[in-house]
Amino acid sequence: MRTKITLECTECKQRNYDTTKNKKDHPDRVEMKKYCRFCKTHTIHKETK
Ligand SMILES: [Zn+2]
Repeated sequence: MRTKITLECTECKQRNYDTTKNKKDHPDRVEMKKYCRFCKTHTIHKETK
């Protein structure tokens, strides 16, 4: 049971990644460190609503 989510950079608020997650494993919003091409560095990306 995978759900499609969008990951948003917490620094510049750009939506950089589309991915999926397992809602059973991650019932809350996921956060992960990913490369942001706008910030040109790794930043925390959060799942958007
Ligand atoms: Zn960014």
